[in-house]
Amino acid sequence: MDLIKVQNDITKVLVTEAQIAQRVKELALELDTAYAGKDVLLVGVLKGAVMFMADLSRAIQIPVSMDWMAVSSYGSGTQSSGVVRILKDLDADVLGKHVLIVEDIIDSGLTLSWLKSNLSARGAASVEIVALLRKPDAAKVEVEVMLVGFDIPNEFVVGYGLDYNESYRTLKDVGVLAPSVYS
Ligand code: IMP
Ligand code: MG
Repeated sequence: MDLIKVQNDITKVLVTEAQIAQRVKELALELDTAYAGKDVLLVGVLKGAVMFMADLSRAIQIPVSMDWMAVSSYGSGTQSSGVVRILKDLDADVLGKHVLIVEDIIDSGLTLSWLKSNLSARGAASVEIVALLRKPDAAKVEVEVMLVGFDIPNEFVVGYGLDYNESYRTLKDVGVLAPSVYS
């Protein structure tokens, strides 16, 4: 979906489609080097990471497998609850694999810090994180990430997979959602 269709709901574009495409290429190059010769499992976090996973996985040149998890930490609001539940678990066994969690955004960090320890406990050879976006000012727990696409201000954003109540995921750019939409 093009920005013009939801112009009134977006106060500011933070990352454009072109900037995302460029950064995804750079991240893929780094991953090709970091994981050369390793058995890599990309774990996408549903549903926000779908677009990022699709683009990043195709930009990566080394062979990788893909799997998906769905966790809930939010309900329908715009604040993290801190309570993480697995809604859909992996199909694959991570034992001995190099797991790379592919996530849309790190906000409080609660979801990813929980997910990282959960997957490590299953016997993965390594568990790392690549996140498209990060809000440094929103961190409640520090999560060690291998790569981040863009650091952004502490505002609620939508687009490129990120939603508000399941809307705006198909927007090509990432923009700040107008508070009037949710207040
Ligand atoms: P955390 O546990 O607070 O780090 O939240 C992580 C999850 O909350 C992300 O995977 C997103 O699904 C969602 N989230 C956090 N911030 C935003 C946002 O600004 N827009 C849309 N979803 C968000
Ligand atoms: Mg998410």
